[in-house]
Amino acid sequence: MSEAMNRYWTLAADPVPAWPQPDTFELRTGPIPTPGPGQALTRTIYVSLDPYQWGYKRRGVEAKGAPCHARTVSRVVESRIPGLAPGDFVFNTNGWSEYGLMGEGVPRPGYMVPRKLDPAKGKLSHAVGVLGMLGLTAYAGMILQGDPKPGETVVVSAASGGVGQIAGQLARLKGARVVGIAGKPEKCAFVTDTLGFDACVSHLDPTLPADLAAACPDGVDVYFENVGGAVFQAVLPLFNPGARMTICGLIAHYGDAPEANAGAQEKAAAEARGVHVQNLFVGDYVEGHHDTFLADMGPWVAEGKVRYLEDIREGLETLPAAFAEMLKGGNFGKMLVRIADDPTL
Ligand code: NDP
Repeated sequence: MSEAMNRYWTLAADPVPAWPQPDTFELRTGPIPTPGPGQALTRTIYVSLDPYQWGYKRRGVEAKGAPCHARTVSRVVESRIPGLAPGDFVFNTNGWSEYGLMGEGVPRPGYMVPRKLDPAKGKLSHAVGVLGMLGLTAYAGMILQGDPKPGETVVVSAASGGVGQIAGQLARLKGARVVGIAGKPEKCAFVTDTLGFDACVSHLDPTLPADLAAACPDGVDVYFENVGGAVFQAVLPLFNPGARMTICGLIAHYGDAPEANAGAQEKAAAEARGVHVQNLFVGDYVEGHHDTFLADMGPWVAEGKVRYLEDIREGLETLPAAFAEMLKGGNFGKMLVRIADDPTL
């Protein structure tokens, strides 16, 4: 009988072209790792695909030859960690890999702390979404930074995406009037009809600046920035005095040369109009806010006050194509790939 092996995707070529190409990634096979003291071996179920992962590669954060980084939901196969048993579910960072180790000495970004998941408290996939880092990003950027007041106008770009859909609904919960910016008509319809935003305009339409101005007759008080470029240029003239802007992400610029600094230029342009601009890094909000966030968001999701759409693809083989699609708006909802059965479904 042949020995079971691990399959994983790694970076095959330098990520020099602006966006991923068909030969950017390579599927490799290797031995399944053995857990040492204080470690556990886990089988990946869900791989979270997020725009920042392209930035990681372009900035050389990832080692070539290692599995591509990603947050994951996994099931424990073998454990040498007290309190963690085979069959338990965990949030961890196995990356684009069928198996991975967690625990002592396993490298991971400092703020992505592995934790055991209770399937009774929410869908497993939500741990890399609305009840995980993504939800915390929306919570920190909208509730803690933007702090919208009843009646204010809030604009959210990439409004149907993972972060955007949550951020806009949080502003609605705070009593603001919320306008989304999204791509295709079906995304805009979802944003208004299902998520309950007051309006949504399309950045694919050349009339975006006029459409956005018409949708924001009282100007813009809070802008939650996920995109940059032409979308930001449409928002810029509409800021009211005292407006706030959170720069969460600038996906339109993730194909720029690494030394280009679109964020600094955007910040300067908004500040020149008197806008209070804050950069957002979710890692800054884990310590001190994660528990409050979960205590708020868990019930909001369970009660349907925050709705959440996922775009779940199937199979390890689909990872590179799904990732490239997501960077170009091919996802409809938060993008993730299921690479093993989720026994809780
Ligand atoms: P999304 O699910 O929103 O997917 C990305 C979406 O961006 C696409 O579906 C597309 O939507 C839109 N988009 C892509 N290119 C363009 C473009 N050129 N112009 C306009 N829209 C575009 O991803 P996430 O929710 O995971 O991430 C959203 C943002 O939040 C990203 O910028 C990401 O980097 C950032 N982020 C920041 C964090 C932080 O700590 N600051 C943490 C997590 C995420 P459409 O079809 O509607 O155009």
